[in-house]
Amino acid sequence: MKQKLIVGLTGGIGSGKSEVSRRFQALGIVVVDADEVARLVVEPGQAALADIAARFGSDIVSADGHLNRALLRKIIFSQPEEKRWLEGLLHPLINQEIRRQLADADSPYVILSSPLLLETRQHELVNRVLVIDASEALQIARASSRDGNSSEQIKTIMATQLDREARISRADDIIHNHGDLVELDAQVKTLHQRYMALASH
Ligand code: ADP
Repeated sequence: MKQKLIVGLTGGIGSGKSEVSRRFQALGIVVVDADEVARLVVEPGQAALADIAARFGSDIVSADGHLNRALLRKIIFSQPEEKRWLEGLLHPLINQEIRRQLADADSPYVILSSPLLLETRQHELVNRVLVIDASEALQIARASSRDGNSSEQIKTIMATQLDREARISRADDIIHNHGDLVELDAQVKTLHQRYMALASH
């Protein structure tokens, strides 16, 4: 069987990944969302949640059975070893579930959207890398008006992500998200044509 074209979509916080994903979905393309998968593997009832509770204590699970993400973030922020342990547990599970969803996708090509595509081994799952690029000032302005976070909080997240130049140097395709949503639309449509052509070869 012919292997399906998989496009990895990435960009920093507030660069426009969700806006771009929605547009590809509207064109009938399946988008696998790595953030969503990361939430899925620690849902109530999942084995990984029990492993996390065994390691960090039962307080890490809230009364409603869900992972207390804020507490977990606090623990791993100050303890790099625990962060490594957690990543060792979760990354293989996340990758396995991403592979499953990619294999199940029934569109002409499929997109894997991940803020950490290039920072993790997730890029090994894709044939091409599509980077959404916006200036840091725009990233901060858009992410803070979306989430109500301070620019300091957004900068802290940005510091854990690749910088703009490093990301762009690894791109096969780039969406320049410096204009309005009409300009974004046009770029998505052009890329969609290119990917449809690649997928049919
Ligand atoms: P990401 O998923 O990369 O964090 P989003 O797609 O959520 O980023 O975009 C961040 C915010 O900026 C959202 O509220 C989105 O609607 C808005 N946004 C993104 N691109 C544009 C644009 N070109 N014009 C206006 N608003 C935009």
